[in-house]
Amino acid sequence: MSTDHNCIFCKIAAGQIPAKKFYEDDELIAFHDIRPAAPVHFLVIPKLHLASLNEAGPEHAALLGRMLELAPKLAREQGATNGFRTVINTGPDGGQEVYHLHMHVMGGPRPWKQG
Ligand code: 5GP
Ligand code: ZN
Repeated sequence: MSTDHNCIFCKIAAGQIPAKKFYEDDELIAFHDIRPAAPVHFLVIPKLHLASLNEAGPEHAALLGRMLELAPKLAREQGATNGFRTVINTGPDGGQEVYHLHMHVMGGPRPWKQG
């Protein structure tokens, strides 16, 4: 399934609910996290609904590669000029809250927010 109509990130990708979106191409979008844990904190998501990394297969390898390849460029543009952290939470023990694959990109001057 390419879109899950109950999925909040599918709705953001479709422009049905607002988000601070700052990047979009054929396959990916990036928008600021609503609860930033660092001065720069955004999410890169595929437009395709994939619930998590657990649902990714070999056919998604290029898409996953593009997400990683995009991170440094967007991080710099958003002001993370001295490095950044990438995180993909997967499943309950991975602390995943939203079941549409997303990569956190966090950066900016430390200290970052605690918790
Ligand atoms: P997870 O724990 O699933 O890796 O992270 C989900 C992230 O999505 C959290 O950091 C949370 O703040 C963010 N988030 C959840 N709902 C929304 C939303 O409606 N808009 C935006 N911009 N971020 C959201
Ligand atoms: Zn979705």
